[in-house]
Amino acid sequence: MIQPDEIRTLYDGFDAPIATLDCGQKCSPYNESGKPFCCDICHAVPTAYKGEWKYLKANTGLWHKWDADKCVDSEKERLEELARLKDEVPDSMELIECLGPAHCERDYRAITCRQFPFFPYLTSDYRFIGLAYYWEFQQQCWVISNLSVVTDEYRRQFVDTFDKLFSRMPQEMDSYGGHSEHMREEFARMRRTIPLLGRDGGVYKISPTTEKMRPVAIETLPKFGPYRVAAALPFPDEAGS
Ligand code: SF4
Ligand code: SF4
Repeated sequence: MIQPDEIRTLYDGFDAPIATLDCGQKCSPYNESGKPFCCDICHAVPTAYKGEWKYLKANTGLWHKWDADKCVDSEKERLEELARLKDEVPDSMELIECLGPAHCERDYRAITCRQFPFFPYLTSDYRFIGLAYYWEFQQQCWVISNLSVVTDEYRRQFVDTFDKLFSRMPQEMDSYGGHSEHMREEFARMRRTIPLLGRDGGVYKISPTTEKMRPVAIETLPKFGPYRVAAALPFPDEAGS
């Protein structure tokens, strides 16, 4: 297990913004709450490794354990939601909740905040080859529709961080390997290729059935939801403003 005293070093090595612009300003106009989707507990529930949770508890009042009370109408729904998420999250992690974007402390963002909307993609023979996105958020997250904004430095730090995490916690490879497998199954069912920001700096589409990789121009990757509509407008930057 990763220890609390290892967390500051991990955080300092994974501090680069995802893009040179504030992507929260791009997605928040499309969220009823006005918050960036990844900082809205009713859309995304962060998690922390047990050692990370100990570090956060000892160093900041930003976080508390998630209890599902804000986004449901009844105690029954709260318990159901809690049970559902606990089922999805491995025992090595805690479900957590911050005070919200108005109180964000950049230095104490959890690893899950820093990695969003990406996860480390593993091949079926367990090679970590790059960043894939959480496709469940493709309608909400502006970055997913605009992968060209992701900086090289962010990509490098993401890869370094997960190389370190995987060497400290090899069981995490099982967890992300399983998620990558699930993505292949889902994308095969949808007859879609998997977009990948490669750890080698390239951009690829992966066949979910053969796992064959094809280099592509990043501009050719698909856009979704309101961001596809916005990109088709003559003045796309004005959409949502
Ligand atoms: S990562 Fe995605 S969801 Fe989060 S603030 Fe940026 S665009 Fe919005
Ligand atoms: S800590 Fe900051 S980045 Fe993370 S969910 Fe909260 S507001 Fe968003």
